[in-house]
Amino acid sequence: MKYGYHCEECEDAIWPATTRTELAWLKNREHVVREVANHVSGGLDTWMMEALDFLSRHGGHSVVLTRRP
Ligand SMILES: [Zn+2]
Repeated sequence: MKYGYHCEECEDAIWPATTRTELAWLKNREHVVREVANHVSGGLDTWMMEALDFLSRHGGHSVVLTRRP
């Protein structure tokens, strides 16, 4: 099963290569992860970068955790 984020306002979605648990975790701690990302020279995991990028593009929008139909 594949999970991802969906922006209800833009009808845009991403499906990073990770689990539902990880996506829920990141969404709840977005500000913390973003702070950590600024201090990690090697960069974060690809799925985290993808997810953070999506969340910042849709900042203030209604983004939900969803399952790929
Ligand atoms: Zn959006």
